[in-house]
Amino acid sequence: MTRPLIAGNWKMNGLAEPGLAEVDRLVALVRAAPPRAEIVLCPPATLLAAVAAKLRLTSGMAAGGQDCHSKASGAHTGDLSAAMLQDVGAAWCIVGHSERRAEHGEDDALVQTKARAALAAGLTAIICVGETLAERDAGQTLDVVGRQLAGSVPDGANAGTVVIAYEPVWAIGTGRTPTLADVGAVHAFVRDKLAARFKDGAGVRLLYGGSVKPDNAAQLMAVANVDGALVGGASLKAADFWPIVQAKG
Ligand code: PEP
Repeated sequence: MTRPLIAGNWKMNGLAEPGLAEVDRLVALVRAAPPRAEIVLCPPATLLAAVAAKLRLTSGMAAGGQDCHSKASGAHTGDLSAAMLQDVGAAWCIVGHSERRAEHGEDDALVQTKARAALAAGLTAIICVGETLAERDAGQTLDVVGRQLAGSVPDGANAGTVVIAYEPVWAIGTGRTPTLADVGAVHAFVRDKLAARFKDGAGVRLLYGGSVKPDNAAQLMAVANVDGALVGGASLKAADFWPIVQAKG
């Protein structure tokens, strides 16, 4: 049976204090009652080594980067390679988050090269896709998601190396979520696309992301083809994140 995955994306939030104390709280909760779900925390790069060191001592927990450069090294001031993330203890890397696509002009081709770089460094890539509100209103959701999947997921990807996060852009950080039926329709579509393209594509884990909170997590996680969640704001505090982890029990 597929092990659920709950990933937290701290974005540009978190200083050593109180961020690392929140990680300690989460670790204590996990140790006291090991959940069915695997847990990944993606803190800012400044905290990655410290968070990875705390998580690697507990089974089913690991740290990830929020982005990586497409190249292995070189003259790219301010950027981090996937190997650097791996070097400080990351096992995962988010690529193609809508905030990167929007704020840094990242297109599908670049996201795919980043995913390749992550895989080459031994990281599992969480590849994000999702439509804007205008695209949804125009009835283009499946076209957009299909195009992003085709362009962003590298050939040769498999259930052990990639996870797909469906994150409607308009649901991220807004408190709004799609209907459960809409989430189910997109996830079924993504599952079919991956199954058609990759040998074990049907086994790739599919996360829903966008305003997942303790009070809506159980409903969202019960939707067919939802294998877990990518959580932003509610991953910053262990008290909020823990019920979401438990919701996919
Ligand atoms: C995200 O950053 O991927 C996200 C889903 O954020 P939030 O949960 O805050 O909407």
